[in-house]
Amino acid sequence: MVSEPDGAEPGGVTVDRSRCIGAGQCVSVAPRVFDQDDAGLVVLVAGAAADGAEVRAAAELCPAAAIALVTDAPPPGPRRECD
Ligand code: SF4
Repeated sequence: MVSEPDGAEPGGVTVDRSRCIGAGQCVSVAPRVFDQDDAGLVVLVAGAAADGAEVRAAAELCPAAAIALVTDAPPPGPRRECD
């Protein structure tokens, strides 16, 4: 079963199908998280628990930079100088 394209799964990964070139490394590294549709484009597996290490590896291996990790951490703000 696969999720809707370009969805974000809780636990933190999004895919940009407009960038995907169907190379399939993500599926090789994390088959419980990623799948490919009939056109070979990436889809997220519905309900998959994203394993952080696997998802990070897939994002690093993706030749199209189509995989992004979602974090709950706020972006870093300006640094405050100490006295
Ligand atoms: S590794 Fe990247 S380019 Fe290849 S199928 Fe996965 S998302 Fe698409």
